[in-house]
Amino acid sequence: MAKNKKQNFISEFRKDTVSGEWVLISSMRRMRPHFLKSANVRHGAESQRQNQKLKKDCPFENPQKSGNSSPILWYPSPKSASQEIKDWFIQIIPNRYPVFPQGSVCPTTSALGPYEKIDGMGFHEVIVFRDHGRDFKKMSIDEIGLVLKAYKERYKMLEKEQCIEYILIFHNKGELAGASIAHPHSQLVALPIVPPDVSRSINGGINFFEKNKKCVHCVMLDWERKEKKRIVFENKHFTTFTPYASRVSYEVRIFPREHSSDFEEISREAIPYLAESLKDALSRIGKTLNNPDYNFFIHTASAKVKNVPYYHWHIEILPRTDKWAGLELGTGIEVVAVSPERAAENLRNSL
Ligand SMILES: [Zn+2]
Ligand SMILES: [Zn+2]
Repeated sequence: MAKNKKQNFISEFRKDTVSGEWVLISSMRRMRPHFLKSANVRHGAESQRQNQKLKKDCPFENPQKSGNSSPILWYPSPKSASQEIKDWFIQIIPNRYPVFPQGSVCPTTSALGPYEKIDGMGFHEVIVFRDHGRDFKKMSIDEIGLVLKAYKERYKMLEKEQCIEYILIFHNKGELAGASIAHPHSQLVALPIVPPDVSRSINGGINFFEKNKKCVHCVMLDWERKEKKRIVFENKHFTTFTPYASRVSYEVRIFPREHSSDFEEISREAIPYLAESLKDALSRIGKTLNNPDYNFFIHTASAKVKNVPYYHWHIEILPRTDKWAGLELGTGIEVVAVSPERAAENLRNSL
């Protein structure tokens, strides 16, 4: 018999016996409140009133006062040297509504007939930004650089955990992108498995490397830079382009030009360049598509390897413009309405 409420919740990674891919069955998230319900009206006085109300009820205005635990890490604004938590600009806190129980305990694997599962276990955290109304587009390069530094530092702490195989850092903007709180925040999940999208891409990289002795991403990057059709922006260290086989209209990826498999090894010198590229990409997408909801995430090598020649870390930005329907769900083939070449041209001309 369940002794407390928590034991009624289920959180398990289940393996698809045929495809070998993992899904997460988690009822823990049903408890999560929604603070975005009426945030669809985006213009005029009505929208302003709604924003005021959302800000008043916002649990991230003062995360600790709203019942969150003390931050795991926090940073003052880049302009301030304050040591006082009241001056936080970014703080990392455990997610109050995680997809699995939190902690360093190694999960158990079990099998039943044709099925296999791993108990849900890991870390699910929120990286909260100070200002309710300022997302990446409105932040300075220094401020975005601080966000990237926070991502990196927390990643480096969690990669030491014995049973963590993969750490994903992601950002959901807007209701269509799955955000339940309007206040700008990123999230981090540290998982006991390598997720299917990443393991497919790592395996593809390994196969290519075995045949060609080259990183497939470096090869594509060279091609894109020569051809220029899909390039959106470049600076000293990073190249932004729309991928040849984009999965949604206006998908954008940011790659470091020098080969590196590990985001968390980004140098202090390169961080402002990545901050500039991220701000640039999100500003162009905002301008071109009238501030769409979007997701971005960092794809990096698995937490248990370093410096591998077959993988190349990058950021993927996916504006929420297309919807999946039967054709996409049934075939796994995404139908993309705007060609990547056209999207790149529109993004280039947007600023
Ligand atoms: Zn807020
Ligand atoms: Zn590479």
